[in-house]
Amino acid sequence: MSAAAKTTNDSAPTSTARRVAWHIPASQVAQRTLNPIRQIVDHMKIAPNKDKEMISLSIGDPTIYGNFDIDEFANEAMIKVIKSKRSNGYPPSFGYQHARASIAAKYTIPTAPLTANDVIIGSGASDALNICITGLCDSGTNILLPRPGFPLYETLATSKGIEVRYYNLLPEKNWEVDLGHLESLVDDKTSCILVNNPSNPCGSVYTRPHLEQILALCARHHLPVISDEIYDGLPFAGNVFHPIASLTDEVPVLAVGGIAKQYCVPGWRVGWILIHDRNDVLKEARQGLISLSQLILGANSLVQGALPEILHNTPQKFYDDTLAQLEARIQLTDGKLGDLMPLRSCFISTILSIST
Ligand SMILES: *Cc1c(COP(=O)(O)O)cnc(C)c1O
Repeated sequence: MSAAAKTTNDSAPTSTARRVAWHIPASQVAQRTLNPIRQIVDHMKIAPNKDKEMISLSIGDPTIYGNFDIDEFANEAMIKVIKSKRSNGYPPSFGYQHARASIAAKYTIPTAPLTANDVIIGSGASDALNICITGLCDSGTNILLPRPGFPLYETLATSKGIEVRYYNLLPEKNWEVDLGHLESLVDDKTSCILVNNPSNPCGSVYTRPHLEQILALCARHHLPVISDEIYDGLPFAGNVFHPIASLTDEVPVLAVGGIAKQYCVPGWRVGWILIHDRNDVLKEARQGLISLSQLILGANSLVQGALPEILHNTPQKFYDDTLAQLEARIQLTDGKLGDLMPLRSCFISTILSIST
């Protein structure tokens, strides 16, 4: 079969007949795309019960009630960038050099060194995840995702015809990965393993030995890791976050991060991929990630312009206050709800037992 014929077969609509009427179906990719959270919140129209006060559990957006506020310094940095008129054009699709350099400088550590060339900026961590998943997985392969986990991973994968296989997290072991279960899912179609640490929704922060166990499994099967580390700055006192890339010389890691949660600006839409590839095994994939960043011509230029200031000069007090406020909120709910899971980071999980 010729390459052209094969491509047509893989993606052809069911009927190839010429149209004779106005029937325009949504594409197969569109039909496969379902984000369960956005599906609810983007279209929510609920008439509140006028006899009862509504208790909103929110959607993980810190800005809604104004109690988690942006630091004034970040606002000023943005205003300066706007007034300078120097960040109004198209940045390179993978991000301004100075913005990527500032991310590399913030996250480089001796055990996981980074330069600006190892950073790709995306339109939020969501876009960064999309680039990672699309860059490593083909339609027809499978990706291993945590359960419970952030629903966007599945949305991104199934949208592209990538099979999702869920590995279990163990509530009785602080939501560690069930390694036996994870390994049982690996086959010759497995493209990569996605790890989310600190975890949304579990609030767990993995210990170093546990991360090393995950890495040993990846090494055995030569599987790269996509590590969603967007909550890296928010573990509670007494818990240490280890970037998974800092614990391996062998396994290639794409670490995803962003400013949405830590700086309380989810609408600003800047996130990134940190490419940790000590042995150059991601050489081709790296080029692929850059090509994928060109699909939308990159992330917001103004926020990128302000990024060096935000990442490096935000007063320490802002970080301390945000964390203290999060911890105080958790204490508050803990007394009331009782049924909360062990908490180590800003996310909490509640198992609701609904009895009829
Ligand atoms: C919020 C969130 C994201 C998405 O971050 P954006 O930068 O807003 O796209 C990704 N992963 C997890 C686990 C999240 O909670």
